[in-house]
Amino acid sequence: MQYPRMLIYPEKIRHNSRIMKEILAQSGIDTLAGVTKVFGGNPELAQKMLDGGVDQLADSRIKNIFRMRDLDSEKWLLRMPMEAEIEDVVRYADASFNTEMQTVRQLNLEAARQGRVHKVFFMVDLGDLREGYYRKERLMDAVEQSLKLKNIFLEGIGVNLKCYSGVIPTPETLYRLYEYREEILQRYNFKLNILSGGNSSTMYLLGKSTLPGINNLRLGESIVCGTEFAYGQRIPNTFDDIFVLEAQIVEVKSKPSIPSGKLGKNSYGMIPSRTDKGIRRIALAAVGSQDTDLISLQPLDEDLVINGIGSDLLIVDITESQKEYQVGDILSFKMEYMAILSGWTSEYVEKVFVM
Ligand SMILES: *Cc1c(COP(=O)(O)O)cnc(C)c1O
Repeated sequence: MQYPRMLIYPEKIRHNSRIMKEILAQSGIDTLAGVTKVFGGNPELAQKMLDGGVDQLADSRIKNIFRMRDLDSEKWLLRMPMEAEIEDVVRYADASFNTEMQTVRQLNLEAARQGRVHKVFFMVDLGDLREGYYRKERLMDAVEQSLKLKNIFLEGIGVNLKCYSGVIPTPETLYRLYEYREEILQRYNFKLNILSGGNSSTMYLLGKSTLPGINNLRLGESIVCGTEFAYGQRIPNTFDDIFVLEAQIVEVKSKPSIPSGKLGKNSYGMIPSRTDKGIRRIALAAVGSQDTDLISLQPLDEDLVINGIGSDLLIVDITESQKEYQVGDILSFKMEYMAILSGWTSEYVEKVFVM
């Protein structure tokens, strides 16, 4: 056995996808794009999303979309294409998210070369200040120009919130997508197929508010972690333990809770402040920030407290646990989104699919 390792439960991905699909359907949202970047577009896990009913597979990286090329589903590139990848984007992605006409024109040329029609979404910035057209007129210009391109089909518009500035979606904010669609219809006599109303931060609105016109969401975190992303709440009837990190204990000792000696900055550039809780039982596990994002781990043994992290060690207070941990024992943690993302990417972490 090798550690650290990630235990992965593919069936639970199917289950969570099905629950999301049901929640969306109850709110009149027709399609769900399953976002696969957190597991690098692994085809087996992406297939579980499809089995659970997701309608499209979506990823921000063309390498991940390439990995899923044999899966029977439409694939969307969520990040604006780099100039350097235009050819692969047209070849492997059915649609891409765009904010620059320069790129859309290149997509058009390449699509003509490959004898295809490439679908385009325009992203609208509704305040989070990441990608998208901020001013309506610039969006309308882009729509007008793209409608003239023979090998481009304007499939819809979309928004992404919460990721950069923490802007939480509201019905009023999302209503602007609907207004844009109506205006595009009036001005250009063209009806957009899809209004993509965001990521897992939109989930909290479903069942509470009506979202006119919104007929698609793109969900990663809600499916893989069973949480919504506006307030971090659990979504009922979902699994939150699809990805579990296991690490092996390499030291167990009793130690004081405050350091001794002269203090300077630690490896993270901070002078730590600690409260004196007396002598504690401390375990060190052989996992570090080169393996995963240790801030987004939740010990399965709820009496454990993560005290600190290093590039190669995790420091865990085991004093309150019912269990007598020994060197060689395994500590298990539920992984939150960022832990899954970095753990999946780290070559130091063994991946084990549990059927
Ligand atoms: C990653 C990503 C998503 C999915 O976000 P979650 O919060 O994981 O649901 C949606 N849209 C875009 C543009 C993304 O990059």
